[in-house]
Amino acid sequence: MNLIVFGPPGAGKGTQAKRLETVLGLPHVASGDIFRDIRKQDSPLAREVRSYMDAGNYVPDELTIELVLARLRKPDALQGFILDGFPRTEPQAEALDSALAGDRRRLDVALYINVPDEIITQRLQGRIICPQCHAIYNVVTHPPIVDLTCDVCGHALEKRTDETPEVIGTRLEVYEQQTAPLVEYYGTRGILREVDGNQAVRVVEAGVDEALDLRGVK
Ligand code: AMP
Repeated sequence: MNLIVFGPPGAGKGTQAKRLETVLGLPHVASGDIFRDIRKQDSPLAREVRSYMDAGNYVPDELTIELVLARLRKPDALQGFILDGFPRTEPQAEALDSALAGDRRRLDVALYINVPDEIITQRLQGRIICPQCHAIYNVVTHPPIVDLTCDVCGHALEKRTDETPEVIGTRLEVYEQQTAPLVEYYGTRGILREVDGNQAVRVVEAGVDEALDLRGVK
């Protein structure tokens, strides 16, 4: 299955995509994780990526498309993938469609996780992540067992640098302008499946499984 997961920041894309990685046995490719790995380096590219991310802006399409498509050409993604956070603009969606078509492949499902703005702001302010294994926590709704320590790999957890109130506001505006139009883009192509992300995690999981027709798979 070739699947994309999209929706506003903090909708739960990463949480669902990580779970689907286990359920479906397909790689979880998160564009945000690709950029977070690059930004740790000491290079002109890392500085460029940091400047976009820290302001809450998108990294330009050309660079984003090149990096994500290169990742999808790796052998583990040839049997299928769960793409999280890409595409986020129409040019990215078009580039993905044409790259897949060039390999006689296509997207099967665009899973849209929808959550209202006010809930998103609350969620993002509480989010902490593991810079090592990319596990995601929330100090209120999903705290780690040991304070600020990753349950999975034991690394110290961090707040994301793009999750201050000011940057969150910019990210929501950029999402509205550039990514929300993808609902229509995939709707007209007949592959959109929408799930209400403003529910308990277990309920969202059940909605995702139903949207992907996975109820008999686990
Ligand atoms: P995420 O973890 O998906 O919220 O991504 C974190 C940040 O990485 C975003 O706010 C952008 O600055 C950058 N980024 C991730 N994916 C993309 C994308 N598809 N296009 C442009 N920028 C992206």
